[in-house]
Amino acid sequence: MTYKNFPMVPRVVFGRGSFNQLNEILRPKRLNEKAPFIFIVDDVFEGNPWMVDRIPLQFNDKIIFVSADEEPKTKCVDQYRDEIVAEFDELPSGIIGIGGGAMLDYAKAVALMLTNPGSSADYQGWDLVKYPAVYHVGIPTISGTGAEVSRTTVLTGPVRKLGMNSDFTPFDQVILDPELTKDAPKNQWFYTGMDCYIHCIESLTGTYLNAFSQSYGEKSLDLCREVFLEKDIQDDDSQDKLMMASWHGGMSIAYSQVGVAHAMSYGLGYLLGTKHGIGNCIAFNQLEEFYQEGVAEFKEMVSKHQVEIPVGVCKDLTDKEFDIMIDIALGLVPLWENALGKDWQKTITRKKLRSLYELM
Ligand code: NAD
Ligand code: ZN
Repeated sequence: MTYKNFPMVPRVVFGRGSFNQLNEILRPKRLNEKAPFIFIVDDVFEGNPWMVDRIPLQFNDKIIFVSADEEPKTKCVDQYRDEIVAEFDELPSGIIGIGGGAMLDYAKAVALMLTNPGSSADYQGWDLVKYPAVYHVGIPTISGTGAEVSRTTVLTGPVRKLGMNSDFTPFDQVILDPELTKDAPKNQWFYTGMDCYIHCIESLTGTYLNAFSQSYGEKSLDLCREVFLEKDIQDDDSQDKLMMASWHGGMSIAYSQVGVAHAMSYGLGYLLGTKHGIGNCIAFNQLEEFYQEGVAEFKEMVSKHQVEIPVGVCKDLTDKEFDIMIDIALGLVPLWENALGKDWQKTITRKKLRSLYELM
């Protein structure tokens, strides 16, 4: 038995308004005046002075506004990398992602692809990345994915939706400023928050569970319950707590795995473009037989916050389309093994998955 030697984010700032310290955090990391900091920023913030005026541009630093309407694609990562290489004489001093999981993943992937040759699609998988990334910083503006702590960057490529999982992927620096999440739209706040809740349930009920994962998962679950069930208002305290729930949830799955909802949500995402947060909710909503208590509690949260969880998203699909989703889901072996144990293939047949997708 060998144990994973897990890299962690070496530096983190936490606090409301800590985003104001960005300049002093970056300054010592500037390599020279020709090596820019590149800020990959969710385009929802374009023209928003509260955000943009606090991004400390100097010399040839640059902001790239990126849409989160579609989840990150390998071809977009390659394109941003190519544009940066073409525009500047030197490698950037750093890549800073500002936004939700999508922007954090873009920042990680572009930072890795500036030092690794070829296409990001070549590195989708486990431990395929060869060289350390350029310095990269993550600044979440919505809480739940755990992308700020994870060792992966989830990308949709020509043949698969899979992360670049590597020791070089985690951020060198994270800035946790819960105030940045204050304008997240309510539905999205809920879907992304539920990603965290589902990480906890899948980790805590999984066969891979161990004391490391449990300690983070239980803390994260307590925080999720406080935010989504116990509190009647959404205030500063909820933003602070959900940001830390996301962190702990991400730490919990680092040393275990996610489970059935994520496996099936990846299928929905690949075929239908359903985004991670809402896709997990659509899947989890139909998974009582695997996560009885978790799904019941999830439904309480849905009804408390009066959020709509779509149903019937698969109703018009062809056999071929179902097969594509089933192939993607079945390919995620560690997720099934975590959820159901080594013998998972005895119960998780193509027919079983088809019937579950039909419920969704
Ligand atoms: P997101 O990045 O997809 O953004 C969702 C929406 O919220 C977007 O429309 C965005 O513009 C908006 N938004 C974000 N912050 C806002 C703010 N402060 N104010 C107003 N609008 C705001 O959301 P997400 O759920 O955080 O991330 C999902 C992505 O993360 C997926 O691409 C998924 O694959 C990835 N993911 C990665 C990991 C990982 O470990 N790397 C884990 C889970 C999910
Ligand atoms: Zn997730």
